[in-house]
Amino acid sequence: VTSADNEGRVRDAIIIGAGFAGLGMAVAFEREGLIDYLILERAGDVGGAWRDNTYPGAACDIQSHLYSYSFRPNPDWSRVFATQPEILAYLRRTAEEEGIRPHIRFGADVTSARWNSRDRCWDVTAAGSEYRARTLISAAGHLSDPVYPDIPGLQTFAGRLFHSARWDHEFELRGTRVGLIGTGASGIQIVPELADVVASLDVFQRSAPYIVPRRDREYTVAEKRMFARVPETAQNLRDELFWYNESRFPQRRQVPSFIEQISSVARDHLASQVPDPALRAQLTPDYEIGCKRILISNDYYPALQRPNVRLRTEGIARIDETGIVLGSGEHVDLDVIVAATGFEAVEPPISRVIVGRIGRSLAETWDAGMEGAYACTTVAGFPNFFIALGPNTGLGAGSMIYMAETQIGYVREAVAYILATGATVEPAESAQRRYVESVHRRSEGTVWTAGGCSSWYLHPRSGRLTTLWPDFMSQFRRENGHFSPSDYVSEPDAGELALQRS
Ligand code: NAP
Repeated sequence: VTSADNEGRVRDAIIIGAGFAGLGMAVAFEREGLIDYLILERAGDVGGAWRDNTYPGAACDIQSHLYSYSFRPNPDWSRVFATQPEILAYLRRTAEEEGIRPHIRFGADVTSARWNSRDRCWDVTAAGSEYRARTLISAAGHLSDPVYPDIPGLQTFAGRLFHSARWDHEFELRGTRVGLIGTGASGIQIVPELADVVASLDVFQRSAPYIVPRRDREYTVAEKRMFARVPETAQNLRDELFWYNESRFPQRRQVPSFIEQISSVARDHLASQVPDPALRAQLTPDYEIGCKRILISNDYYPALQRPNVRLRTEGIARIDETGIVLGSGEHVDLDVIVAATGFEAVEPPISRVIVGRIGRSLAETWDAGMEGAYACTTVAGFPNFFIALGPNTGLGAGSMIYMAETQIGYVREAVAYILATGATVEPAESAQRRYVESVHRRSEGTVWTAGGCSSWYLHPRSGRLTTLWPDFMSQFRRENGHFSPSDYVSEPDAGELALQRS
């Protein structure tokens, strides 16, 4: 093995990605000491989704005192829902102050990660360099790779085209005619910001989202001082926010009054902000609340009613050199198209480059029916491999950081076990199947699978819920918070391998 930096030594762990999950994993390793780990990060900075999503208005829709590491509380959050620059600064500080940066290789796009059965380690190639490690942790995220809409003629558009997660800050939008495709969490944050600046803004909506009020405010100096001086107060707030989000969980439909209550909040919000019945009808979702993410905003509906903004619901027929042609045949002339059309969440590209014990990639394994992961974290056929924020770990409501930290705890224990015993572990296929089935059983009848919408929470071929966790966050931790070696089998010997290959 040749390598620019490691002379072929086999490290204890390689982490792919320096976003929330990858950095959190590194902090756990760092604080534990004695672990020789490396983070491979394809970009030039830490921060993951919070580095990439710099669109105007980008902010978190989960309260920051909850949407942050429990082991690095931040008394200085400026407001309830922090904006993207503040969250990115928090992650940069984490990398700096926890001593993670020297362990990161930037510009290291992982193009291949293969289990090496002979040497019992992972051989990883990134940007032409090769690395080896006993354990591999993919923390590449599922909201990392933007998806452009599959609309005929998109490439023929002669104006400026970019994705919400790849915002073109060089381009002067002032005075231009902009078309925004997509009204998800990103789209509705962008609209109020652009409406102020551009000559015209056409918002192309395919499905209307449910929107509830955003209960945001700045923290006072006195509050921040209190959080810093008496950390228990920040911890109390965090606990309160956790249980508040945990109880706002109508999706399992177990408590019909919750559904009615949150639906009426959304209905009243729409009615109070949109007096025009025709526009209100266009903005009324045609599926059950919670089937897609419930969004929060106080300024989206008002922005749509500005004279220079128009909601387009006729559907897009095609795109040509000068704009968008609607289903009705009307042509909308545009200088810029912004695609706020989401990410490759269902089939993250990283799953195509990670290749397990029998020469099959994660993507191929999942395609062959083995969707999901044992404890949402490990996969049969992939020894000493862990995936953070992979299958069935997303949330409709709640903090992804809590989910990531649960997995970090699990992986930390597993890696310690592997390093201490020299074992090579992977879940038995039967155990994985049983676990994944138990997750799917819980998803049946929930609003995500039966709420009458199509979303990226569901796998396009199987129709199964593969991205979201269909239970309470606290249940995820109860089930998946600790690694137990007895759940695992060791790597099969050469004879068994030959049998499996034949
Ligand atoms: P998204 O939720 O996938 O929304 C994509 C939007 O684009 C949807 O409105 C979708 O319509 C529309 N769309 C996709 N393809 C289209 C096409 N071919 N023609 C017309 N419309 C099309 O993506 P996102 O808004 O970027 O959000 C993704 C996730 O990121 C969120 O669920 C959330 O987890 C996270 N996020 C969080 C925050 C935050 O505040 N914390 C902010 C932004 C994003 P349909 O609904 O009809 O499919």
